[in-house]
Amino acid sequence: MPNKKNSYVLDGHSVDHVRNRNETKAVQILNEVLSEFKDFDHCQLCIEDIYGLTINQLPVRYIQVGGLNLKKGISDDEIRKIARESIQRVIEKPSHSIPGK
Ligand SMILES: [Zn+2]
Repeated sequence: MPNKKNSYVLDGHSVDHVRNRNETKAVQILNEVLSEFKDFDHCQLCIEDIYGLTINQLPVRYIQVGGLNLKKGISDDEIRKIARESIQRVIEKPSHSIPGK
């Protein structure tokens, strides 16, 4: 059984920093673009939905290991576009039926 710390070891190589880079970037950009959406309710559920939607849409190529691929990976502008679309989707169709509840 792999322990929790080593759960992102792939074929003997840790890919934890790659995962973190991906997630950190998404959080950073979401924080940046969320203020553009005045009708967002800022509830926990919607934030989790937006984060999940954004992370899931980041192209696989971004997660490739190795400096070369990471440098050629998705641009901040592309992540921003995905983030904005995710926010818009959750605002229009939140998991809870009544906005803000
Ligand atoms: Zn909400």
